Amino acid sequence: MAAGVEVAAVVKSDGYGLGAAEVARRLRREGARSFFVARLEEGDALRTALGDQGADIYVLDGMVVGAGRRLAAARLIPVLNTVPQVEAAVAFAAGSGAPLPCALHIDTGMNRQGLAVEEACAIAAAPGRLARLDVGLVMSHLGSAHDPSDPRNGEQLARFSAVRPLFPEARASFANSGGTFLGPEYRFDMVRPGVSLYGGGPEERPDPAIATVVRLEASVLDIRRVAAGEHLGYGSGLVLQSPTRVALLGAGYTDGIIRAARQQGYAWLAGARRRLLAVTMDLTIVEAGDAPVQVGEMAELLGPNVLLDDLAQAAGTVAHEVLVRLSPRAERIYLGG
Ligand SMILES: *Cc1c(COP(=O)(O)O)cnc(C)c1O
Repeated sequence: MAAGVEVAAVVKSDGYGLGAAEVARRLRREGARSFFVARLEEGDALRTALGDQGADIYVLDGMVVGAGRRLAAARLIPVLNTVPQVEAAVAFAAGSGAPLPCALHIDTGMNRQGLAVEEACAIAAAPGRLARLDVGLVMSHLGSAHDPSDPRNGEQLARFSAVRPLFPEARASFANSGGTFLGPEYRFDMVRPGVSLYGGGPEERPDPAIATVVRLEASVLDIRRVAAGEHLGYGSGLVLQSPTRVALLGAGYTDGIIRAARQQGYAWLAGARRRLLAVTMDLTIVEAGDAPVQVGEMAELLGPNVLLDDLAQAAGTVAHEVLVRLSPRAERIYLGG
């Protein structure tokens, strides 16, 4: 999709819950050279995992108070978000005697992180300050990239396009997963996908262009018949309208099956979708129909047949949140090295 443009990998939040070290090493083998994390600590850990060669690691929190030495020690690149962060970076660079590699984040309308457009203009007009910094990247972030019809996308693009020439030496990056799909004018020099690297559709719904990356399975612990009128699970749960054969699965909300997904969500068992009836901490009850289900067989709770964006929608959330909640206790198996 982004041919000719660098694809940086966003591996914050422990690689969207999947293991930042494993994910980043694999993506580096696939050709990724730039990585984004949120916290300084994540950057430190990633530097240890990737070693010294061939990886630019950007820290989205930027130049947090007192971070200079640690950033420099692990050769992490701060994404400067505020005027005080820029000042701190300039002061640190003055003390160290070398220009500090950094990125500038410009807020073009998301109102979350980044320098105001006027602040960026003021920085660009102060060459003395800029000389202390080695600004390799100027970036911004889209607030509505998952919705191509939202006029905010075009408005943010216009603002970014106006600011970008103020830093002619720097490369430019604008698009997250959704933005990458909005069109070539959104891609600049580098795109920064996160969720779509992990199987999430760019428009927050399943997308055939995006492969399934993660699979979560749990074993069937028991199968039982429950009579009409019976309650299923904890009180205020479900009262069955008709006799129902159910399967009990050994995974629950501890494992990332968000409780709110009951009733709307589904699992895949014995070759068909099975409605989630109840989700508790360690156990999930699904409809089993007349399928020849065996105790001990595996049910899919997320994967090629239980789509990430479907589960997110059933739970009233986004794929990002489903991913970062994936089971801390599940055995994790990384395929393909
Ligand atoms: C999280 C994040 C991304 C990746 O977003 P996705 O929606 O997961 O593709 C890109 N850029 C910034 C600044 C982010 O915070």
